[in-house]
Amino acid sequence: MISYREALQCVLETIAPLPARQVALAEALGRVAAEDVIARELVPPFTNSGMDGFAVRAADLATATDEAPVRLRVLANVSAGQVATLEVTPGAALRIMTGAPLPGGADAVVPIERAVVSGDTVELRQPLRAGANVRPAGEDIPAGTQVVARGTTLRPGDLGVLAEVGHTRVAVVPCATVALLTTGDELVDAAERPGPGRIRDSNVYAVSGQVAAFGALVRATPRVPDTRTDMERALRAALEYADVIVTTGGISMGDRDCVKDALDALGAERMFWRVAQKPAGPLGFWRLGGRPVFGLPGNPVAAMIAMEEYVRPALRRMMAMPRLHRPERVATLETGWERRDTDRRLHFLRVHAREEGGAWRARLSGAQGSGILSSMARANALALVPEDTLSAQPGAQVPIHLIEEPEDH
Ligand code: AMP
Ligand code: MG
Repeated sequence: MISYREALQCVLETIAPLPARQVALAEALGRVAAEDVIARELVPPFTNSGMDGFAVRAADLATATDEAPVRLRVLANVSAGQVATLEVTPGAALRIMTGAPLPGGADAVVPIERAVVSGDTVELRQPLRAGANVRPAGEDIPAGTQVVARGTTLRPGDLGVLAEVGHTRVAVVPCATVALLTTGDELVDAAERPGPGRIRDSNVYAVSGQVAAFGALVRATPRVPDTRTDMERALRAALEYADVIVTTGGISMGDRDCVKDALDALGAERMFWRVAQKPAGPLGFWRLGGRPVFGLPGNPVAAMIAMEEYVRPALRRMMAMPRLHRPERVATLETGWERRDTDRRLHFLRVHAREEGGAWRARLSGAQGSGILSSMARANALALVPEDTLSAQPGAQVPIHLIEEPEDH
């Protein structure tokens, strides 16, 4: 059995970023740019008014005061989207709206609030500097500016900037698609009333939710019956579209645990099976047709922890995200914990962690039995109790992973 660190390293070494491809801007949010983008155009593309008001020659207003206002003749109106056909000559002004191109001859815009209009003249009582309320062409983005750097995660503002410069497609590392195959003949859909001995399939919701929260796409297939041939068929179908395959259940030593057999039958390369950890000891990892396959235990807590600790960093690497790992801190454990197993595995404890005066404190978020999902639902961190720790008294220092905080390394 390999350790958590070895298993994680194996996963990360096996997985490479997906090949880049061009996508439409509408599909680019959250993707990592695979190219530097250089603006081919200026933003704004022409010098324009920053205010609703009057386009003027600043020199005309040099002497304007309350006592001796300057009166200018208003030649025409120019709205956003129009181009003035008249020039602003000495003693004249053009009524102008925000965003309209600055007419020839004008070098400043007087805001409407500062103007007194009567008929076709406008009275102005203050001087203003040349360039006031004018947005020069290229003031935001001069030509030849790098607007996106390869390797950055595209945010809404980046999409806006790309649109401004007319870059409607961008090369990115695409979103990964995960095929989720849940197994277990005891399972029924959540909407059903389970018959004797049956339970509802919760993994399909919890694990799908995790994939979505991780920023990848999930396609949950119909639940796979616990036979090798059904699992083989489901895996083969998943290979048609998935970048990553995740199975839950059927990976342990039970009679009907057919995931390993199906993978073997398909000629998958087994990278590891079983990790010295709890929960999720039976975790397996394969390569099948160039695609990574994670065989997660069916136990809902184990499945969620394996998703968090292995599948999440794997998906991030696949999508070329710059940081793979959640923040790691050392916390003071407020609740005691005692090891029940004898085989000395790394334990992930479900905890609720909080920072107080610069120090982290964590208490168990509920009972730690591997079937107890509610304590996972309440956890915001996982505490890692090392193999050689038999018990932890309140006050013990434990490393924690903050599973609701963005990756920081
Ligand atoms: P397995 O890994 O198939 O041996 O399943 C381990 C435990 O998790 C059993 O108690 C299963 O009933 C339960 N289990 C397996 N799959 C699911 C699922 N999709 N939703 C809820 N519980 C499950
Ligand atoms: Mg099962």
